[in-house]
Amino acid sequence: MTESDKAGDAYDVVISGAGLAGSAAAILLARRGVRVALLERRSDPGAYKVLCTHALQASAYPVLDELGLVSALEEAGAVPNKARWHTRWGWIEPRADAGGAELPYAYNVRRSTLDPMIRSRAAQTPGVDLLLGHRVTGLVRDGQRTVGVRVSTERGEREIRARLVVGADGKDSPVAKFAGVRTRVHENARFGYLAHYRDLPLRDGISHAWFLEPDMAYAFPNDDGVTVVAVLPDKKRLPAFREDLEGSFLAFVRGLPEAPPVDSAERVSKIIGTVDYPLVTRDATAPGLALIGDAALTGDPLWGVGCGWALQSAQWLTEAVAAAATGRGDLDASLTAYARTHRRRLRGHQFLSVDFAKAAVPFNPVQRLMFSAAARDEGMARHMYLFASRLIGPMRFLNPVALARASAVNLRHRRSAASPSGA
Ligand SMILES: Cc1cc2nc3c(=O)[nH]c(=O)nc-3n(C[C@H](O)[C@H](O)[C@H](O)COP(=O)(O)OP(=O)(O)OC[C@H]3O[C@@H](n4cnc5c(N)ncnc54)[C@H](O)[C@@H]3O)c2cc1C
Repeated sequence: MTESDKAGDAYDVVISGAGLAGSAAAILLARRGVRVALLERRSDPGAYKVLCTHALQASAYPVLDELGLVSALEEAGAVPNKARWHTRWGWIEPRADAGGAELPYAYNVRRSTLDPMIRSRAAQTPGVDLLLGHRVTGLVRDGQRTVGVRVSTERGEREIRARLVVGADGKDSPVAKFAGVRTRVHENARFGYLAHYRDLPLRDGISHAWFLEPDMAYAFPNDDGVTVVAVLPDKKRLPAFREDLEGSFLAFVRGLPEAPPVDSAERVSKIIGTVDYPLVTRDATAPGLALIGDAALTGDPLWGVGCGWALQSAQWLTEAVAAAATGRGDLDASLTAYARTHRRRLRGHQFLSVDFAKAAVPFNPVQRLMFSAAARDEGMARHMYLFASRLIGPMRFLNPVALARASAVNLRHRRSAASPSGA
């Protein structure tokens, strides 16, 4: 029997990519009795995604919990990601309602901590074979249906067949390309650079974001006392910025309102970044194939949503297909259900992000209304936090009651500013 034949009988699902999405899907599927081959092109089990600012939104907490990672993350020093956001109307400071429950949160945790942690959990999960140094180089097709992958390893080429192939292979997803999945690419008019610092105090020790219309900046405290500082300016500034990358980065950060004190802190990484990072939306399924994480939808890095969505889409896929992947159900109907959930949960967010990524103009009237009200009213700040944490979608964020409440907040603010006592 050839290696291909042996492998062909062994797996229900083959996943390309052992990043966040792939590792999470492997764990969740295997726990439901699915036999999984988890393929990763890199050979190092400790490999991680370097270009990331590592903020996991609160929407990801339930998946982290289901994966059993919460206590391990806390032991590793992951920082609950409370935040304050600077706007031209002042700071938005979301807080729990007086006497109410704590605001939902997840964590800031470096990918050098998170990626190896989740990958090793996948490797330890009965039913998962983590195959490092396995690069997916093509698909095995039966007519229009994907029935396996071709893989290149140090020992040569092999073929692995499975009922379902999952592309969890990131923004440029080779699997999506091989399958010819419909892909829409949306321009991102900002570029980004980031660096890691030690001994960089931030007010209240929490994350900061600066909305500078159109430029953006962040500071995220992470595990092991490391704070990630990121700037995302309008691309119009790129030629000048690049002339002196370090000088421009530092000048940008120093110029922020209540700037983090980078000059007295220790920089512990290079300044790294990307000058072209379009948003990508793909059809999440095709016959015999599903995409999760960035492979299905790459959001704008400025919102810090991709890691959470990578984990969540792994969970949505598992819930939809686990039974059918073991031969107990209709796989095509299960894939349709997954695609529907993915669309319903993420397309609205992506729609607003695509608009914001154009960066050409300052806030539009709706953004002005919501941000100004959130800077002036605690209830509106909480409402905005729930949206930014991706716990509510655009329809709920911009529902008529919320818009009316934001208008009332601003009216009250204008009246009190105009009254002689300022009361
Ligand atoms: C500058 C920047 C900042 C960001 N900041 C944040 C943030 O603060 N918070 C947040 O939530 N998101 C952030 N993101 C987005 C986040 O990094 C991604 O959304 C997330 O990594 C997606 O996870 P994934 O598992 O889908 O893909 P990836 O992490 O890209 O993993 C894909 C895996 O597939 C493997 N692979 C690729 N091709 C093959 C192949 N042919 N065969 C086998 N394996 C393959 C890769 O080696 C990799 O391990 C940021 C992104 C950028 C660029």
